[in-house]
Amino acid sequence: MLELAQVGDFCPNKKCPDYGKLQSKQTKRNITKYGKTRKGKQRHKCNTCKETFTETKGTIFYRRRTPAKEIMDTLALVAEGDRISSLRRAKGHKEDTILDWLKAAGEHSEAVEAVLLADYRLERGQIDGLWAYVGNKGEKKAMKRRLRAVSFGGQR
Ligand SMILES: [Zn+2]
Repeated sequence: MLELAQVGDFCPNKKCPDYGKLQSKQTKRNITKYGKTRKGKQRHKCNTCKETFTETKGTIFYRRRTPAKEIMDTLALVAEGDRISSLRRAKGHKEDTILDWLKAAGEHSEAVEAVLLADYRLERGQIDGLWAYVGNKGEKKAMKRRLRAVSFGGQR
């Protein structure tokens, strides 16, 4: 479960057939270590799409203060139908924080889905409910950008 936050456990290339598939769930691993960068960071290579990547890329909850397991626990509760406002009271996370995790999760939806299906035994429909919060994978964001463009135009 915690491997979710670890680089090198899944391919971050969205065009790759093995994108987001956790290595721990694979019978044949597609990710291998691939030397180090000049700054000493571990580099990984996906043998399916031949892309290489380092630890700054492709991590779902990279550099977040809350442990990945806690984030996933919270997201699973949202998928199970808990309201974000009641989670805020129960778990002590700010609503904005939870929404931020949802957004990050939506950007790596396949990797997150793999964990929710396997480790949390959620159903497809529940996970779809989760993505509804993110506005169908980024649609809401595009809408906001559009609205901003409109209001900017109005200021002239
Ligand atoms: Zn790949």
